[in-house]
Amino acid sequence: MGLLDGKRALVFGVANDHSIAWGIAKALHDHGAAEVGFSSVEMLLEKRVRPLAASIGSDFVEPCDVRVDADVARVFDAWAARHPGESGTGAGSLDILVHALAFANREDLDGKFVETSRDGFALAMDVSAYSLVAIVREARRVLASPSSVMCLTYYGAEKVVQHYNVMGVAKAALEASTRYLAADLGSSGVRVNAISAGPVRTLAASGVSGFKQMYGAFRDVAPLRSNITIEDVAGTAVWLASDLSRQVTGETVYVDGGFNILGVPTVEG
Ligand code: NAP
Repeated sequence: MGLLDGKRALVFGVANDHSIAWGIAKALHDHGAAEVGFSSVEMLLEKRVRPLAASIGSDFVEPCDVRVDADVARVFDAWAARHPGESGTGAGSLDILVHALAFANREDLDGKFVETSRDGFALAMDVSAYSLVAIVREARRVLASPSSVMCLTYYGAEKVVQHYNVMGVAKAALEASTRYLAADLGSSGVRVNAISAGPVRTLAASGVSGFKQMYGAFRDVAPLRSNITIEDVAGTAVWLASDLSRQVTGETVYVDGGFNILGVPTVEG
């Protein structure tokens, strides 16, 4: 018997097979989820996302630019049409919702934070933080009670990480949004949590200047002396998706080998 037997999930943010979203989708499937649907930017769908979806028996693949409210609504219209249920509205048809996407202009992930433009700031906040609110608002009409929503964040939300800049501010907003959404939706049986992952080699990460050096140094100082994989993150996602975490909401859960507990990260001589 799988931990997620019979559950239905929708995952936003697969770019390729290195994406954290893909690691999570695959693990949900491996732990028994009955269906895992996908939403990603249109350009990625046919070449990248559809074949990955097919590999776990899914053909629910919908385009969405999360900056566009109509796109977000269309994804949930499509989901509801696929799972009308007894009410015909799709109510209660979604058990797990994963938000694993972010974006900032490359020039804002280099140099000094003080140089961030108004437009660059707004863009990073819109795609990386507000999108969680927009997606959850639309998802309410199909989310089951109980159900689990999760998003992905990073330590740069709390402490200054060189070059993470505006994305750190956006992640702080994402973590705060997680708590406010959890408070709003708890009485409807919807839990909302964030996973704070250590550095993982992905497309998005390669846009952060200096990521390679940071990634290399991480395993020398993190208490568990290891880099973080998409499978590591996915394990915690499965727990958050399952009934084992039924009294956990509004939390930021670290999957970072203990890095965040260090006051002064130091390589032992
Ligand atoms: P990824 O594979 O590049 O995934 C990021 C996804 O976000 C991509 O599919 C990207 O599409 C999508 N996206 C960007 N703008 C979008 C928009 N307007 N509408 C819809 N989707 C959009 O990178 P990842 O590292 O797995 O990132 C997943 C999440 O984990 C992000 O929230 C990231 O901040 C977080 N995270 C990553 C790390 C790490 O070290 N990798 C650590 C902690 C947290 P495009 O490719 O077209 O831009």
